Amino acid sequence: MPYENINLIPIYIALGVGALLVALALWKKVLTIPATVSAFIILVLSALFAGYTGVVVFSVSFVLSAIVGLVKREKRKAREEGLYPHVGARGIVQVLCNAFPALVYASVYFALGIEAFKVASAVTVIAGVADSFASDLGIVGEGKVVSIITFKEVPRGMSGGVSLLGTLSALLSSIAVALVVFAVGEVGIKGLWVMALTGFIGTIIDSLLGASIQRAYRCSKCGKLTERQTHCDMPTIKVKGCKWVDNNVVNALSLVVAGAISLLFYL
Ligand SMILES: [Zn+2]
Repeated sequence: MPYENINLIPIYIALGVGALLVALALWKKVLTIPATVSAFIILVLSALFAGYTGVVVFSVSFVLSAIVGLVKREKRKAREEGLYPHVGARGIVQVLCNAFPALVYASVYFALGIEAFKVASAVTVIAGVADSFASDLGIVGEGKVVSIITFKEVPRGMSGGVSLLGTLSALLSSIAVALVVFAVGEVGIKGLWVMALTGFIGTIIDSLLGASIQRAYRCSKCGKLTERQTHCDMPTIKVKGCKWVDNNVVNALSLVVAGAISLLFYL
């Protein structure tokens, strides 16, 4: 069992890489301070639970999402402003919703030693980074955005909307991160395709949930669709979804489901 012979080296690496990521996150203001602290703790715990795979998948994903977050930052900020409740640095709830599913699967691997749970843990991280590629690049793109359920055109950036650029970015980033994790050598060729495929499937589930159960509002003044509860200084009107399901809930849920699907594929 992994907990009977803990490898300390990945934990030391996590401490070192974590310190660098903390510096990067604070310098580039991609995370708030509580979010940065929780990301650091999560990185170290995933190194404890899932060894080299845990450190590498989190580090690579964090660096890649930070880099993609810097692409056309001003344009994205302008487009996100009327759409999302929180714009700018990611908060602690966002970080926990994105990383907690990975820790759950990794801790099962740690306790039982079943390889598939280590893969599932990596899958949730890969699906998360693929989702941030899709949304961060999709929102600055110019092509058509349609609802994944109705195929009708929706405002760019709305949850549940998909674009060609966003979908391609999700697929390519899934494959790229899966290849890096595979290169670490703890996960075999079966793990590679399960990670690449289910990472991407996770983004599709995210869009499906985003289009269906996630709450969305319409501005009572300008009539625009938004995920905000206020717009044009007025309260907005809910047009769809469950009132307690926001983007964070959808993210966490889609990652858990993606991990579960990868277990089915792997086992
Ligand atoms: Zn408005």
